[in-house]
Amino acid sequence: MKIIMLGAPGAGKGTQAKQIAAKYQIPHISTGDIFRANIKNGTELGMKAKSYMDAGGLVPDDVTIGMLLDRISEPDSKNGYVLDGFPRTIPQAESLTKALAERGENIDYAIDVDVPDEAIVSRMSGRRACVSCGATYHIVYNPTKKEGICDACGQTLILRDDDKPETVQKRLSVYHEQTQPLIDYYSKEGKLVTVDGTQDLNDVFRDIVKVLGE
Ligand code: ADP
Ligand code: ADP
Ligand code: ZN
Repeated sequence: MKIIMLGAPGAGKGTQAKQIAAKYQIPHISTGDIFRANIKNGTELGMKAKSYMDAGGLVPDDVTIGMLLDRISEPDSKNGYVLDGFPRTIPQAESLTKALAERGENIDYAIDVDVPDEAIVSRMSGRRACVSCGATYHIVYNPTKKEGICDACGQTLILRDDDKPETVQKRLSVYHEQTQPLIDYYSKEGKLVTVDGTQDLNDVFRDIVKVLGE
């Protein structure tokens, strides 16, 4: 099963993608996580990405597309994957469609986790992230068992620099300009599924499972 998560920054794509990955036994591929790991390790890719991410903009397509196509060519991606944070632009979506078509493959579902802008800022300010395993929590809506410590791997959680309210506003406008058109793109491809992302996170997941199957 090949799945794309769509939705604004903070809509809950990562939270749902983790659960999908666990239930359907497919890798969770987050371009944001890959960039953050590269920044942490001081790689060339990380250095290229950092300034764009800090400013709340998008990393250029030529950097991002190659990285993602390499990642889905790895052996663990043979039976599918859930993409979280890619594609984010029409050229990214077109490159993915084309690369898959060359192998006689295609995406099964593009799941749009729909949350209005008003709800996003409070989600982001309460988000805590694990740079080690990519898990995300929320201080109110999805707290960890032990404050500040990742339930999944025991590392210390951080508040991401780009989750500050000013940067969140910028990311939301980038989302509306460059990423929202993908909803139309996947609707025309007949792949779009919309779920109400304002519900409790377990209810959002239940709606997704209804579509993907038990
Ligand atoms: P969120 O989960 O809040 O939507 P991500 O972790 O997916 O954020 O992404 C963080 C940042 O990484 C983005 O704001 C952007 O700068 C960069 N990024 C991630 N994925 C992409 C992509 N597909 N294209 C361009 N930039 C990306
Ligand atoms: P994205 O990957 O789309 O940027 P995340 O999955 O990281 O979003 O979620 C953003 C923040 O909102 C996190 O702090 C997360 O714990 C919280 N969150 C996710 N889903 C919900 C939900 N349905 N209700 C309330 N908070 C949520
Ligand atoms: Zn962790």
